[in-house]
Amino acid sequence: TKFSDFGLADFLQKALAAEGYETPTPIQAQAIPHLLAGRDICGIAQTGTGKTAAFALPSLHNLSQRPIAPPHKGCRMLVLSPTRELASQIAESFRAYGKFMKLTVATVFGGVPINRQIRQMERGVDVLVATPGRLIDLIDQRALQLRDVEIFVLDEADQMLDLGFIHSLKRIVPLLPRKRQSLFFSATMPKTIADLADKFLTDPVKVAV
Ligand code: AMP
Repeated sequence: TKFSDFGLADFLQKALAAEGYETPTPIQAQAIPHLLAGRDICGIAQTGTGKTAAFALPSLHNLSQRPIAPPHKGCRMLVLSPTRELASQIAESFRAYGKFMKLTVATVFGGVPINRQIRQMERGVDVLVATPGRLIDLIDQRALQLRDVEIFVLDEADQMLDLGFIHSLKRIVPLLPRKRQSLFFSATMPKTIADLADKFLTDPVKVAV
């Protein structure tokens, strides 16, 4: 498989060339066609496999097919990540892959003052990468709403459960539109995680690398 086989928008192929990516990794080869087709996905993959590009590239392509302004105090794509380090890395990847398109990316996580994040959300963003606790704080402060989310990603799901984020998730998921694309990634898939995935995925494609 080559990146050019996927039919990704030219500005994404240009970004891939700029990043020096030549060949899709196995998770990218397996996931990208299904995600471009709008399917939900349940992926077992570790960090380092190219998982971020596997979900970022088709999502950016799909968002670009309907170029609209980001929703007020909202986002078009929400990525939940267990830690601030991972959230920052994911946001950096989105900025790199989206550098030849019009794209706003924001990261919100706890442990830093919330006021700047509240102001950042005012105009809305295309892609929001968040840790669950701070996301809920922003919602509770009426600084953020999730009714316009088109694509929802839960990354490193097993780590979230370790950190006891299940309670936050139970509050977040009901605020998402029912009609959305959902992506679920975990390094391991014990029964508790598989049950959680079942709750918000619709007829998912399953991939494992
Ligand atoms: P990730 O698993 O998403 O954390 O990605 C691991 C690393 O691989 C990151 O530094 C990416 O920039 C890089 N990477 C992802 N996909 C490719 C690819 N197809 N070719 C070369 N490098 C890649």
